[in-house]
Amino acid sequence: MTARHDVPEADAFTRTYWDAAAEGRLLIRRCGACGRAHHYPREFCPHCWSEDVEWERASGRAALYTWSVVHRNDLPPFGERTPYVAAVVDLAEGPRMMTEVVGEGELRAGMELEVAFREGTPVFRPRD
Ligand SMILES: [Zn+2]
Repeated sequence: MTARHDVPEADAFTRTYWDAAAEGRLLIRRCGACGRAHHYPREFCPHCWSEDVEWERASGRAALYTWSVVHRNDLPPFGERTPYVAAVVDLAEGPRMMTEVVGEGELRAGMELEVAFREGTPVFRPRD
């Protein structure tokens, strides 16, 4: 089996996140101490270091922050997907997330996106 480089190896903690993604749900982590959400999932809050952090289902809405078109990537499975759009999006809940934008149409900063799932990996597409 060829190693995949687009999906991090899940450990016991991030398993929850990837299991939800496989079912079409995007999870974030919300801190009970300061109320802020974060992504990627951590066992403590990166804002205030509290360990009072719970999983929460994200709305799936995001705004495009920045992106670049990747024309070459030799790591499987990216090679067969080029060109693709590597992007950073701001989730409606606040956290900034590295992802990929799929679908047709011109991209512009700040445009509204919604989560989609490809083989259990969260990606984003323009919202109509
Ligand atoms: Zn916190």
